[in-house]
Amino acid sequence: MDARAAILLVDDRRENLLALEAVLEPLGHRLVSAGSGEEALKELLREEFACILLDVQMPDMDGFETARLIKQRERSQHIPIIFVTAISKDEEHVFRGYSAGAVDYILKPIDPDILRSKIAVFVDVWEKNRQLREQAELLREQQLAEQERVTTARYQQLADAMPQIVWTADPNGNTTYCNRRWFDYTGMTAEDVELFEWPAVVHPDDLPAMLARRTQTLETGDAFEIEFRFRAADGSYRWHLGRAAAIRGDDDAIEFWIGTATDIHDRKRAEEQRRFIVAAGDALSRSLDYRHTLAEVARLAVGGIADWCAVHVVEADGAISELAVAHEDPTQVAFARELEERYPPNPDQPTGAAAVVRTGEPELVAEITDAMLERGARDDLHLDLLRQLDLRSYMCVPLRGRERVLGAITFISCDPGRLFGPDDLQLAEELAGRAVTAIENAQLYREAEERAQAAQVLATIGDGVALVDRAGRVRLWNEAAQRITGLTAGDAIDWQGFARRLRVANAGEAARAETVPLEIDGRELWLSISAVGFEEGTVFAFRDLTEQRALETMRQDLVATVSHELRTPLAAIYGSAVTLRRDDLELEDQLLDKLLEVIEVEAKRLADIVEDLLLTSQLDADKLEVRIERCDPIAIVQQEVETARTHIPKHVELALDVPEALPPVAADPSQLRQVLSNLLDNAVKYSPDGGPIRIEVSSRDRSIRFAVHDRGLGVPAAERERIFEKFYRLDPGMTRGIGGTGLGLYICRELVRRVGGRIWVESEAEGSTFVVEIPQESAGNGANRPKSAVSAGSDRG
Ligand code: ADP
Repeated sequence: MDARAAILLVDDRRENLLALEAVLEPLGHRLVSAGSGEEALKELLREEFACILLDVQMPDMDGFETARLIKQRERSQHIPIIFVTAISKDEEHVFRGYSAGAVDYILKPIDPDILRSKIAVFVDVWEKNRQLREQAELLREQQLAEQERVTTARYQQLADAMPQIVWTADPNGNTTYCNRRWFDYTGMTAEDVELFEWPAVVHPDDLPAMLARRTQTLETGDAFEIEFRFRAADGSYRWHLGRAAAIRGDDDAIEFWIGTATDIHDRKRAEEQRRFIVAAGDALSRSLDYRHTLAEVARLAVGGIADWCAVHVVEADGAISELAVAHEDPTQVAFARELEERYPPNPDQPTGAAAVVRTGEPELVAEITDAMLERGARDDLHLDLLRQLDLRSYMCVPLRGRERVLGAITFISCDPGRLFGPDDLQLAEELAGRAVTAIENAQLYREAEERAQAAQVLATIGDGVALVDRAGRVRLWNEAAQRITGLTAGDAIDWQGFARRLRVANAGEAARAETVPLEIDGRELWLSISAVGFEEGTVFAFRDLTEQRALETMRQDLVATVSHELRTPLAAIYGSAVTLRRDDLELEDQLLDKLLEVIEVEAKRLADIVEDLLLTSQLDADKLEVRIERCDPIAIVQQEVETARTHIPKHVELALDVPEALPPVAADPSQLRQVLSNLLDNAVKYSPDGGPIRIEVSSRDRSIRFAVHDRGLGVPAAERERIFEKFYRLDPGMTRGIGGTGLGLYICRELVRRVGGRIWVESEAEGSTFVVEIPQESAGNGANRPKSAVSAGSDRG
């Protein structure tokens, strides 16, 4: 392009244009001539001019009009216009010219020098302006370039500083840039990137999906997002999240691709591990059958965090057994078993789970190297077979219980991309902790169940059980304990004092029961009690022996009394018999008679004692037959008094006091006679100084009363009930020389009771009165009614 300044010359007259060209020619500018205003405007559209020389007087469109139009156009409005006019220099013209945008006037005839100098000035101004413009343009371009350089550098710096891998690619997907992180992570150099070796570092399992996704993205231009494993410089694989987006130009065409790969390995592993721990925890808490549960956990571990998982437990006998084993590929398990059979482990040098159980410490082999296998192999074949197991990484954690190691969980990875590290070990230990909790919970539950059963047994057994802690507080007090003692756990018993009196066995030792009395509310209880001490206190187990004790006492009383009572008559009979048989003695008739009488009387006494014993045993066994009949009380009493009179001592007076007639009673007549006979005998026996005995029979309400009064020894108020007890005697030592078995009043009471009657003793200032009350026959208790147990006769209504 012509760089010279252009000057537009406008005149309707050709000769004028030629003249102007001739004048301006020497300036060396480019001169463009236009014959009219329209032509001038056309030229102005075509190019830029440094100055316009415009003739004022032109037909059609004059100079002023042309200038006005030029000034209207933005591109031409600043071009200086010099009017060339022959018209008079009057002011009106000058004014019009200036208002039309002229910068100067040149009057015809033209002075060439003036015109040239004027034009030179304008061109000069234009040149300067152009240079300025050009310089400004250049500067702007330079600045833009610099700016772009700075921006690019800054972006690269930014990209390099980013923890993510950042790359760009051309629209076809060919890599154009990778940030520093890429090189740092993969260990690749810039040369590798030229080839763009990224498929070489993507995990083989993830590559097909990634390539497919990439192809799809390049076709559609859609954003790209995928999770995959990238191999690091050290050969380990880490999970990354890959993203790419297309950057489009104004025309919407893809200019380039920008992508990132963010390391999400820890998050991904944490997620996997959390999922696994949650699932395992769920499985562990679901069942109390921990064996089943641990097998389930092994199954969950495979696929979750390992390729193999085995659970070993320590059995009750201390042996270690494999409880569960899981593998994606069951043939590998079978293969491993075969291998173990062929090359059994040395029990003296435990390895794996056995070693972990023994030490209680976890084991981690992050990467099983070939050298390790070689060391472990017994021979070349073994090594070959071991290699086939494809073991890459191993860890084993103990199941540490509160008191002992319960077992171990082993994890094995066959995936070079999944080598166990400290994080995995930590996870495995957390799992082991949970498994132990599950095992121990199951045990606790079982124990609690057993305890509940034991508590139930304690509650229901007949023996009293009390658990007393070291502070003397009763911690357990079963129902039997309450029933036996009549006390509640809160009632104060001096257990510690009690324990001091007993021999307290140590836990596990056989406790010996002792029989001891325990006084409760003035009542004496005999307890057979054993005490066992344990860490927190003492356990007392006891049973009530009061009744047995009473029976035992009674047995002893019986033996003592009966043997004594039998001995006296036996001695008398024996003595008499021996005397009778002596041939060296000539016995007088009287003595002979006397001796025979002794034998008769004492034999009768023996018979009576035996009779009483028999009767008592029948009464105790409730086997005595009672035949209740309608009997006449007066006739019975009279008969009995008659009999008594035949054998009572001479100095005893016997008086009978009966009304004319009395209603009949309902009783067993022979038994009623026996009662009266007993009372009469006692009255005589316990009146050693003799004295009158009076028998009174009367009618009371609906019963008949028999009262036997004597003036004998009397019965102290405190003993009036007890004398009716079996074997009970007021004077067991027989200080007064009055013998007896203590059965007579007991028999009376029992016989009277059986016909619905009562018996008691009244004893005032002198002697005593035994009263028997028998229901009248009319009182609705017909004869022959079955015997019935009636309340004790000694209480008076
Ligand atoms: P035994 O007469 O064989 O001792 P009992 O059962 O007949 O047995 O009497 C029990 C006790 O009651 C007697 O040991 C005696 O102490 C007292 N006893 C019985 N009858 C009388 C009485 N009439 N007067 C005083 N004490 C009596």
